Amino acid sequence: MKTAVIGYPYIGQNREWKRVTEAFWKEQLTLQCYEQEMKNLRLAQLYQQKALGLDILTVGDFTYYDRMLDMAVMFNMVPSRYDYLSLQHNFTAYFAMARGAENVVACEMTKWFNTNYHYIVPEYEGQQLALQHNVYAQYIQEAIEAFGMSPRVTIIGPFTFYKLTKGVGQEQKQHYIQQLVIVYKELLQSLEASGATTIQLEEPSLTKDLTSEDIALVQHFYHQVLKGLTVETICTSYFEALSDYETMINLPVDGFGLDFVHGKIENIASLKKFTFPKDKVLYAGIINGRDIWRAELQKQLALVAEIRSYVPYSPIHLQTSCSLQHVPVTTAGEKGVVPELQNALAFANEKIKELQMIKGKILQLEGPYQHAILESQKAIRTLAQHKSRRKQAVLDKVNALTQEAFKRADNYNKRSKLQRAFLQLPDYPTTTIGSFPQSAEVKKNRSLWRKGEITTAEYEAFNANETARWIAIQEQLGLDVFVHGEFERTDMVEFFGEKLDGFAFTNNGWVVSYGSRCVKPPIIYGDVEWTEPMTVREVSAAQSLTDKPVKGMLTGPVTILNWSFVRNDLDRSEVAYQIALALREEVYALEKAGINIIQVDEPALKEGLPIRKNQHRAYIESSVNAFKLATSGVRNTTQIHTHMCYCEFNDFIDVIESLDADVISIETSRSHGELVKILKETPYRLGIGLGVYDIHSPRIPTVEEMAVIIGESKEVIEKEQFWINPDCGLKTRTEQETIASLKNMVAAKERLKLLN
Ligand code: GLN
Ligand code: ZN
Repeated sequence: MKTAVIGYPYIGQNREWKRVTEAFWKEQLTLQCYEQEMKNLRLAQLYQQKALGLDILTVGDFTYYDRMLDMAVMFNMVPSRYDYLSLQHNFTAYFAMARGAENVVACEMTKWFNTNYHYIVPEYEGQQLALQHNVYAQYIQEAIEAFGMSPRVTIIGPFTFYKLTKGVGQEQKQHYIQQLVIVYKELLQSLEASGATTIQLEEPSLTKDLTSEDIALVQHFYHQVLKGLTVETICTSYFEALSDYETMINLPVDGFGLDFVHGKIENIASLKKFTFPKDKVLYAGIINGRDIWRAELQKQLALVAEIRSYVPYSPIHLQTSCSLQHVPVTTAGEKGVVPELQNALAFANEKIKELQMIKGKILQLEGPYQHAILESQKAIRTLAQHKSRRKQAVLDKVNALTQEAFKRADNYNKRSKLQRAFLQLPDYPTTTIGSFPQSAEVKKNRSLWRKGEITTAEYEAFNANETARWIAIQEQLGLDVFVHGEFERTDMVEFFGEKLDGFAFTNNGWVVSYGSRCVKPPIIYGDVEWTEPMTVREVSAAQSLTDKPVKGMLTGPVTILNWSFVRNDLDRSEVAYQIALALREEVYALEKAGINIIQVDEPALKEGLPIRKNQHRAYIESSVNAFKLATSGVRNTTQIHTHMCYCEFNDFIDVIESLDADVISIETSRSHGELVKILKETPYRLGIGLGVYDIHSPRIPTVEEMAVIIGESKEVIEKEQFWINPDCGLKTRTEQETIASLKNMVAAKERLKLLN
């Protein structure tokens, strides 16, 4: 029995990787220094794996930006729009694809399955694929040199790489597949030649719903690519149970990795029903690579015993359920949270130690294994008994919820008439999504305050002044519904987490979101409770400066849930309801303060969809309910808005409609035409503003182009429902860009009015 991780975090304990990467981008490091520093980091991470006692050392989990991008560039899948670049070094095209360059946009980036990590989407344009710059062979050699032992290498498998590629037309499919077979084969042969002990092919796509065409394709890939190899190969599935187990488990590999955390019930059932091939090794993912909680070792031991009972003949190795890149490096420096919580946390290093403890106990080795088991149990019990988890009032409130709490008093038709009379909004009202530019001054003000160099009063006075300035700007622009600008917020989840009971924040709990961007998700560890108004002062102050309505601005319960690390002793839906009840109090507080329009943002609602379709319904139901619980307590005349972005919503309109929000502002710049087509077929009944320009670009949209977009939307959206707004919040734009763009947006609306 051996232990391994599917991957170890590459950012480093103090985000060294991020610093080195960004220094190189700013040309503060020469290419040679950069490569050397990156190599040092890789070896340090490998050393960590070894020091923590893992039996199998894994390379290939490292990246210079993103592992999907690594594969694409290594296969020479560089889109032709980058051809003009004069290649200064190996990274010129690589970073242009990742981040864009002068005159050329970056490749698309999207969520890695149901995690909060985003990968670079490979683009196929019929390029001739060829293996070049084989970084993995280099990683293997480095490890052999440094440690005198050959590592296992982990790479994204051919099926997953294929499934995540965009731009493969029906007529190109066969050719692309053939080419992939050739380059993968060549890659694997070179890895074998470099001295890898094992090649792990990561295939998270095997946990999705598979069609018969998919199944045939996986088989084709594996039979072709692995032919003639003698090195040990493993196919590793993660994030869910292996789909079509009976067929897939017989792929011509030497070992199979299964996730016994997220796909536990189904994978166990599959083992039971179909057994496990006698000639393969099982890599059992038994420690959760996605959460930050200490495992109760006794339960994990029981799990291994259960697995063993269905797999009596094959060797079983223990690993994490997925790569540890989704959790921070170590809890060692986290002294700022309550001790009961601190003691119940396990980040990457602690999770590896758990694997070691489980192995030691099973093999009856000499060591503190029994002690570790008792300690884990004690830590978990102690947190369970902590006062933050025993708020009877919160539990009672959730238990006492009735249907009524999830419903507005009257339906949209009735409400919208009342709101029109009450709010006195013009036709085609214009608004923005919430945030205004977080200028250097805004950021400096916050950083001075955080360092204690200015007082809270000074900090708040600066923000209030910024709001006042932007109220005047909004007046001048002639917008109809104003916002206060969110100058007091850095992150839309952190801001509320800091003010609600039940959340904790780590000092150093960073994980990569994309590229070098790291996030430090809050930890929801206790019962969530509203204690006092969180947003009323800023919004009311803004409202006092104008006769136009100012929108209250909240982050929705599902987004708060999906962008946090969540306690694992309650159903996620129950935690969502707790957050929703807390937000409901804030909504009441805003309403009481005379705020008549309240926006509750849910950008993460769609991205939280489970991997398997058969789980979608339950997720959607509890998410929609959580949103409704937060928002439906208001008067008929109070207008509830929501906002969504980051996803395509073409197949999500019915869910959005079921939120029963009076108005949604929605990002559409990338798929406006598509959405209009959908709305033509199935009209949307409530208020809606299709984003009229892309805020992610510094470009100022012209009046004409926005008038065209507005004109198209007009064909499918009734006048009474029609709103005009940008795609998303404006915090990343400059003041100048923002004003110029909004000025054009209002002008485009005026043009529309003239036509009526
Ligand atoms: N109200 C938020 C803002 O404007 C919404 C952010 C988002 O959609 N991601 O910044
Ligand atoms: Zn947005």
